Amino acid sequence: MPFTIAIDGPAAAGKGTISKSVSAHFGFAHLDTGLLYRAVGAKVLAGAEPVAAAEALTPEDLKSDTLRTPEVAQAASKVAVIAEVRAALVAFQRAFALRDGGAVLDGRDIGTVICPEADVKLFVTASAEVRAERRFLELSAKGHSDTRADVLADVKARDARDMNRAEAPLKAAEDAVVIDTTDLDIEAAVAQAVQVIEARRSA
Ligand code: C5P
Repeated sequence: MPFTIAIDGPAAAGKGTISKSVSAHFGFAHLDTGLLYRAVGAKVLAGAEPVAAAEALTPEDLKSDTLRTPEVAQAASKVAVIAEVRAALVAFQRAFALRDGGAVLDGRDIGTVICPEADVKLFVTASAEVRAERRFLELSAKGHSDTRADVLADVKARDARDMNRAEAPLKAAEDAVVIDTTDLDIEAAVAQAVQVIEARRSA
């Protein structure tokens, strides 16, 4: 039986960690849809045309080690404003969402556009400053030299592009449960998500 969990929110709000934890908890498959846009962004940085890159994307492209850099994140949010790029990625995401055994998809438009019929919709958010601090610590641990100010500027630029675009802008679905992680540690955030999903599963 399909059971779809849509988890949306801005960069570094904690949705990746929450998605991994709830997919492990319930034994569901997990798709980080940001990777699709990052893979297209990486190809564009290497000289490809965005729509052609999105149409030719393969599962192998999602495994590249270089997709987690700030440069690729910015490139991803630039290709993500292009309607034809988004359209090329819809069918794969919808098929994943409807697989037997349950699926968790995290991104920006899962509850609003990709899976408006999802069984559970979560919108995970936090203040830009807290999100930037988390991303800064993550990047520093990986040896990146970006300063706190660079990371905050990056987060804000990406938020603005993601929220203000015409096509599938980042916003909470009307029926999403909002989890604000500004003052929550990750265990508490995961516990809230699990509680919401369990309530919906037994309804
Ligand atoms: O989630 P992540 O930070 O990896 O996403 C990278 C970029 O891809 C986002 O800033 C956003 O522009 C785009 N994206 C999107 N729709 C999704 C997932 C990601 O537009 N469902």
